[in-house]
Parts: sequence; structure tokens; C-alpha cells
Amino acid sequence: MSDPDVIIIGAGAAGIGTGLECAARGLTCVILEGADRVGGRAYTASGGLSRSWDWGCHWLHCATVNPLVPWADKLGTRYDTKPREDYASIWRGAFLAPDEMAKAQANIDAFFDRIHSAGKAGKDVAVSEVMPPANTETAAARMIFQLLSGDDPEVVSAAGYSDYDDVEADWPVLTGYGALIAAMAEGLPIRLATPVRAVRHRAAGVEVDTDSGTLRARAAIVTVSANVLQSGAIAFGAGPAADLVADMETINCGSYEKVAFTLTDMPAEFRGKLFTSIDTGHDAGPLNFQIIEDEAPMLINHIGGTPAREVSTAGPEAMKDLATQHLVAAFGADITRIITGTATTGWTQDPFILGSYSHAEPGSAQLRRDLISRDTGAIGFAGEAFSLKWQATAHGAYQSGRDVAGRMAGALSL
Ligand SMILES: Cc1cc2nc3c(=O)[nH]c(=O)nc-3n(C[C@H](O)[C@H](O)[C@H](O)COP(=O)(O)OP(=O)(O)OC[C@H]3O[C@@H](n4cnc5c(N)ncnc54)[C@H](O)[C@@H]3O)c2cc1C
Repeated sequence: MSDPDVIIIGAGAAGIGTGLECAARGLTCVILEGADRVGGRAYTASGGLSRSWDWGCHWLHCATVNPLVPWADKLGTRYDTKPREDYASIWRGAFLAPDEMAKAQANIDAFFDRIHSAGKAGKDVAVSEVMPPANTETAAARMIFQLLSGDDPEVVSAAGYSDYDDVEADWPVLTGYGALIAAMAEGLPIRLATPVRAVRHRAAGVEVDTDSGTLRARAAIVTVSANVLQSGAIAFGAGPAADLVADMETINCGSYEKVAFTLTDMPAEFRGKLFTSIDTGHDAGPLNFQIIEDEAPMLINHIGGTPAREVSTAGPEAMKDLATQHLVAAFGADITRIITGTATTGWTQDPFILGSYSHAEPGSAQLRRDLISRDTGAIGFAGEAFSLKWQATAHGAYQSGRDVAGRMAGALSL
């Protein structure tokens, strides 16, 4: 078989976007995927529960301009476009009354407004340095921030965080975002269970080592996560690609994990809501629960930043216990009678992912922008970490794959 034009490393949203762009340009490619499935951080599966759920991405963020919405329409994916008012509740010894909830929401909004103004003003400092003075909602706002950025306000740059160009339209994918990304991959030349060990430049193109041999091509596009890049799992021969990876030290993936519960019935207090935050005074801070009210009701605990890193390191039983304790605190032990199954994610430990999604550390916002536009010759980089305005998202990863493939095809005359 002749060498492909492009070798793509990783079959997540970015790798699939790259493959689709190559196909659209008439370039031959092969996608080498280390895991035994496609999708990476886009994954819809049951994990032993009676229904499937999204382990990673679930929301079509920036939905009114999200390039994956047309794909969803083409592939028959169902998503929910309902505008949302009054979608969250907070439990702190009791559920907050509507007037308390409105006040809490105003404090949380003020938290994010402050960060955005500082970030947009170019303050490349830790988010914790520009947060409003502490108030009753600081813990809740911190928890939401940990989910949005994957890490703690102390380690995330306000300017880097504010590079994200939010249009504030977020639509949950009812049939699974992971299922959508997997459907998009149909027909692409993907080799599963083929971890790449090394990538290097050669006189006319690139060489890529796998356990089953070395492949050659005119170019390679690497789409693995920032933490996988920095782990050394893939060796880069000396040159611009190795230099870029060395320079990425302060662009890291944080942690974000989920604990899913299937239920016989949805507790009345949760009905009509999308999220609730339960604050028991635990060191982990308030815990967020997503409420899914369909024919198979489900609660999904989302946990981010240091609490996610710590509890996922302790393992699945610790994750289940922490989330269950919070539900019991709010509803009493009877809640356990309506739980029919529990499953957990493990992104932080997954050797092919090693975290959630990327952020620039304080002082690194400009570095991240420079890395995205840096020319690294025949070895290019794509993925959520390489998306300028849509970092940390599936559509940002996909678009980055398309953009990098287009840019390299032009620059290298592929
Ligand atoms: C819990 C969680 C919730 C999220 N929620 C949302 C959301 O609601 N909306 C949203 O838009 N985004 C969300 N995201 C982020 C989104 O899922 C990611 O930004 C996006 O899927 C990343 O795609 P990617 O292609 O850049 O990377 P990945 O999905 O990580 O793809 C990289 C691929 O490379 C493979 N790989 C790794 N090492 C090797 C190797 N050595 N050789 C070959 N292959 C290798 C991996 O197995 C993987 O398949 C969430 C993420 C998490 C973890």
C-alpha cells in the first residue's frame, strides 16, 4: 500500500475533523487511534447502567455558531434548544427559596462578569486575583468555574479563560454528543488500538512509529490532549514539533469527572430543573448534579478541579461515596432506595487522555495564542488546546482539526 499524504494521530473530535478536511481536499490519510474506540473525550456509553449517557462532552456550546450542529442535523442527532430560565437550584441545609435563589444567581453572575472584564482587559493573572470579594456564593461560583475551566481559579489565567468567545447558547445533545462524533467518523480510515510511540521529521515528510511498524507520510497532524503530549508518551525527534511540546509546559488539562446515577423516579425537588448544587460543608465544596428527566431518569454529579483530581485518584468507589453522601444529606437515606445503578468516568487516569481539557496558566495566555499559530513544518498540532476562541470544547477541537489540515495543505502544497 502506498504511503498516505497525512497521518493523523488520535480519533477524537479533532482527529475526525482533520480526517474529514483531508477527504474534502482529496488527500489520502490514515488515523491512528491508541484506544479501542473512536471519540476520545466524546463518548456515549452505558458503563453498565440501563441507559447510555455522555461521559465527556454533552453540550453543544456556542450552539448558534457551532459547526457540529449541521452535522447533528444531517445525522439525525436530537438536541434541546429550549431557552432556560430558572434552571438551577441550590441546597444548603434546605433548598433556597426563589428570592434567595435570585440573589445567589446575581452573585454568581457578578463573579463571572468580574473575571471576564479582567480577562478581556488583558489581565494574564490568576482568576483568583480578580474574583470579587468573598460572599455567600463564592463556593458555588468557584465550583462552576472548576467545571467550566477544569481547574481551580488559582491556576487559570483570566486572559486565557476569556479568549473563549461565548455566544451563550448551550444545547444538550439528547442522543449523546459522543454518539454524534462517532457517527461523523463513519467511513474514515481509522486504525484502532494503534498507539503512536514516536513522530519525527524526515527528508521529505514524516515517520511515525507504532508497535506494528513505522509509517511514512508527507505530513502528520497530532491531536492528542495537552497532558498526553507533555507525558512523553509520544517521542518527537529534535525539531520544531519537539520544541513546541517543550514550550507547552504551562498549557495543561485540569480534571473533570462524572458520577452517573440511574433512578426509578426523579425526586420532586429536582423536577423542572437542569442542575442543582448541594453544599454540605464538605472540603470538596458544593457538588453539582445534572438532572435528566426523561423516560429513564438520571442524576449526574459533575466535579472539577482539585476535588475531581483527588476523588478520582482515590478511585470509583470514593467517587460514588462522595456523590451519594451529598444526595443523602439533601434527601435522607431513603434516596438510596430509588438509585438503580451508579457508574463513574476516569478521564484523569485514562492514559490516552490524562485530564479534562486545557487552560493557560497565569502568565501564559499569549504563549497559548502563539503556539496555536506557530509553524511546525510537516508535523502539525490540532485539538481543543489548539483552538483560539473555542478551547476546551468538542466543536473547537473539530474546527481546529479542519483549520490545521487546511493550513498545512496550503503551506506544504499537499
Ligand atoms: C467530563 C467532560 C465534559 C465535557 N463537556 C463538554 C461539553 O459539554 N461540550 C463541549 O463542547 N466539550 C466538552 N468537553 C470537552 C471536549 O470533550 C473536548 O474538548 C474534546 O472532545 C477534545 O477533543 P480532541 O480531539 O481535542 O481530543 P481527544 O478527544 O482527547 O482526542 C484525542 C485522541 O487521541 C488518542 N490518543 C492519545 N494518545 C495516543 C497515542 N499515543 N496514539 C494514538 N492515539 C492517541 C486518544 O485516545 C483520543 O481518542 C468535556 C470534556 C470532559 C472530559
